[in-house]
Amino acid sequence: MPIFHECQRCTACCRWPGQVRVAPEEITRMALHLGVTEDRFIQEFTRIDRSRTGLALMDQPGGECIFLQGTDCRVQPVKPQQCRDFPNLWNFPGFEKTCRSIPRVLEEAEYRRRIREATGREIPGVDSRGPGG
Ligand code: SF4
Ligand code: SF4
Repeated sequence: MPIFHECQRCTACCRWPGQVRVAPEEITRMALHLGVTEDRFIQEFTRIDRSRTGLALMDQPGGECIFLQGTDCRVQPVKPQQCRDFPNLWNFPGFEKTCRSIPRVLEEAEYRRRIREATGREIPGVDSRGPGG
């Protein structure tokens, strides 16, 4: 049966080194949410991404994401897809050492419902399987 990683909002993934890439439509949504123009959003909150092909969110001086405020995300309802997809639809070897998400073994239908709720995505099949799955 598939394993769903239930986020505990520990904010570790908002603090570790890396980049959060943002697509144009995500910029539109976040600017609207914050009540600023897209131009201002781009100037104040983004930088050129490492591949120099798009934009990524800026970091605060301590390295955490520009939108992390205490333990809250200032753009939580409209946060980028990259943030929504972690750790269920992408992660990296050993992520469990830092990410406090709780692995839940679920029936496939419930797994798909939880993925939809967490990421907004419909998944056609299940990749992540438990022992013997
Ligand atoms: S946008 Fe929000 S969820 Fe994504 S890294 Fe920044 S603070 Fe975290
Ligand atoms: S590191 Fe894991 S548990 Fe913590 S906020 Fe990110 S996804 Fe959630």
